[in-house]
Amino acid sequence: MERIRLSRRDFLRGAGATGVAAAGALMFPCAEAAFAEEGATVDVEGASLYSKALGDDASLLPMRKAACPGPRGPIAFEDRDIADSEIASTEECEVLIIGAGIGGLMGSLKAAEEGAQTITLEKMTEGRSAWESFGAVGARFQKEQGIEIDPAQLRDGIYRAADWRVDPCAIETYVSRSGEVADFWQDMLDKGGSGWELYKFDQAPNYNGFPVIDSYVNFRMPEGISTTWLFGLYVCKELRKVAETYDNLSVRYETPAVQLVREEGGRVTGCIAKAGDAYVRINASKGVLLATGGYDANPEMMQAWVRPEDYESSTWWNPSWGTTGDGHMMGLKVGADMDSLPHPVMNFSNATPSTFVEKRVYFPGAMNYSIVVTEEGTRFANENQARQYLSNAINVQKRRGHTCFHIFDQAMIQSALDSEPSGEKQLERDEEKGHLFRASSLSELAEKAGIDAAALEETVARYNSFFEEGLERDPDYYRYTGNNVPFTGGTYYALVTNSVILATVGGLTINGDTQVLDTEGRVIEGLYATGNVSGNFYAGNYPRHIPGTSVGRAATFGYVAVEHMLKGGQA
Ligand SMILES: Cc1cc2nc3c(=O)[nH]c(=O)nc-3n(C[C@H](O)[C@H](O)[C@H](O)COP(=O)(O)OP(=O)(O)OC[C@H]3O[C@@H](n4cnc5c(N)ncnc54)[C@H](O)[C@@H]3O)c2cc1C
Repeated sequence: MERIRLSRRDFLRGAGATGVAAAGALMFPCAEAAFAEEGATVDVEGASLYSKALGDDASLLPMRKAACPGPRGPIAFEDRDIADSEIASTEECEVLIIGAGIGGLMGSLKAAEEGAQTITLEKMTEGRSAWESFGAVGARFQKEQGIEIDPAQLRDGIYRAADWRVDPCAIETYVSRSGEVADFWQDMLDKGGSGWELYKFDQAPNYNGFPVIDSYVNFRMPEGISTTWLFGLYVCKELRKVAETYDNLSVRYETPAVQLVREEGGRVTGCIAKAGDAYVRINASKGVLLATGGYDANPEMMQAWVRPEDYESSTWWNPSWGTTGDGHMMGLKVGADMDSLPHPVMNFSNATPSTFVEKRVYFPGAMNYSIVVTEEGTRFANENQARQYLSNAINVQKRRGHTCFHIFDQAMIQSALDSEPSGEKQLERDEEKGHLFRASSLSELAEKAGIDAAALEETVARYNSFFEEGLERDPDYYRYTGNNVPFTGGTYYALVTNSVILATVGGLTINGDTQVLDTEGRVIEGLYATGNVSGNFYAGNYPRHIPGTSVGRAATFGYVAVEHMLKGGQA
C-alpha cells in the first residue's frame, strides 16, 4: 500500500486557497497542532485512486474556501523565539489575566477581591464590551423576583444546541456557578456606586420550536445613561472604574501579550508582553487566564477555521477589533488542544450590507413581521426562527448567488416611526445607501429593488391567505401566525439583508475548572481560559435562543478560573 505524508498545509494548498495558504503560513504556522501532526502519515489506498484520477496536484481532501470580507485587527501573537536579550524588564505577580473584555474583567475583579497581586493586560485602549445582556441561573435577584429556572433544562438546552459534541463539564460549571457570579457582578456594580442593577429580561413566548428559558439578565441603567443597546460598553466602563480602586490590581491598556511562557512540558508561568516597543516578561505564580476573546477580526483565521458560508457574505459590527485570535495561537503554541473544525460562530440576521439594522427603527415591528424573500420573490425560511437559524438560511441563499430582502409595509413599521424621532432619517439614509426601497405598490417596489414582481405579489397574497383562512401555522415554513400580521398596503418596503458576524465562539479545550487541556487531554498547569478563547461549549452555531450564554460563560469562567488558581489549582 502506498503511504504518503499529508499535512494541514497540504489541505489548504490543495483547496486552492492561495490567500489562506500564503497568509496562513506566515500568520499561524503552528496552527497545525490543532488539526494533525505536521507530516502525519495516512494510509492512502483509496486516496491514491483519487490522485491517479485527478492528477498529482489534485487535493485528496478538497475543502471549499472563500475570501473573508471582515475587518483586520492588530495581531499581537508572535510565533518566534524571543531571546532573553530582547526582554527589557521582568515583573512578578500572582494572577495574570490577558484581555480585559468581560471575562478578563470579572477574573480581575475576583482576583483583586481575593487580595491576589494581579496584572491584567489589554491590547486595545478599552476592553471590547460589545453586548447588551447575559445569562445566569439562581442569582440573588432572580430568587427575589421569583424566577425559577430548571438547571437540567438549561444544561440540556446548551448540550443539545452543541449537538452533544462537547464534554458537558464546562456547561455544568456555567449552570451551577453563573448565579453566584451574577451576585458578585452586582456587588461590583454596587461598589461602583452609579446605580447599575441586574434585573429580569422579559422574553416573548417562542412559538417556533424552542422553549423559553428564563435565565436572561438585563441591566437597569443609572440616571444619565440612556441607550437602547450595547449596555456592555457602559457596564464595563463601570467595572473598569471599580478595578482602578484596588491597589493589588493593575490593568494595563495598550499592552498586548505576545506569547505564553511554559516550562518544558510543565507549567505555564507567565507571558511576554509588549509595552510600547519593549518586551516585558511577566511571571505569574498562581496562574494565567486567557481572556482574549475570539478571532472575528482575523480574516485568515476565519478562512481557515470557520465554515465559509458563515462569513463570506456577512457584515461585521463591533466597537473594537482586538479579537484577532491571539489567545488561540498562544495556547496552541504551548500545546493546547482546541475545538475541532469548523468552529461555531455567533451569527445574527437583520444586517444590511453595511451594518446591523438600526434597532430602534426596524426591530419594533418591521423585523418581527416582515417576510424574507430573494430577488426571485419567494420565501425560503420561517422568518421568526431563532436568529442564528434565519442567518444560516440567508447565508445559503447568498451562497447560491441570491440577494435577500426583508419585505414589510407601513403598518408593520409605523409604531417604530411614531416612537423613534430619528426613524424617517434612518430610512432615508438606508435609501441613499441603496439598501432600502419603498413604493406604494408591490409591483413598483419589486421593480425598484430588482425583485420578480409577479412572484412577489403571489408570495404576499399567499402569505396573507394564511391569515384570511385563520391558519395557526404557515403551511410553507411552519411560521406561527398568531403573533404576526398580514400585509395591509400603504407603503411597501424592501430592505436588503444579510447576516452579521458578532463573534467566533470556538476555542481552546477546557475542563470544568476552566483549565486548558493539551492534545492528550492532560491539564496544562497554570493555564486557564474563559469566554470566546475557550472551547468545549458550543458546536455548529452560537445558540441565540438560549439567553446570553456567551457573556454568561465569559464572566462565570473568569471568576471560576481565578478561584481555582488561588486555591492552588485544586477544585
Ligand atoms: C454587537 C454585539 C452584540 C452582542 N451582544 C451580546 C449579548 O447581548 N449577550 C451576549 O452574551 N453576547 C453578546 N455578544 C457577544 C459578546 O460580545 C462576546 O461573546 C463576549 O464579549 C465575549 O467576552 P470575552 O471576555 O470572551 O471576550 P471579549 O469581550 O471579546 O474581550 C477580549 C479582549 O481581549 C483583548 N485581547 C485580545 N488579544 C489580546 C492580547 N494579545 N493581549 C491583551 N489583550 C488582548 C481584546 O482587545 C478584547 O478587549 C455581542 C457581540 C456583538 C459584536
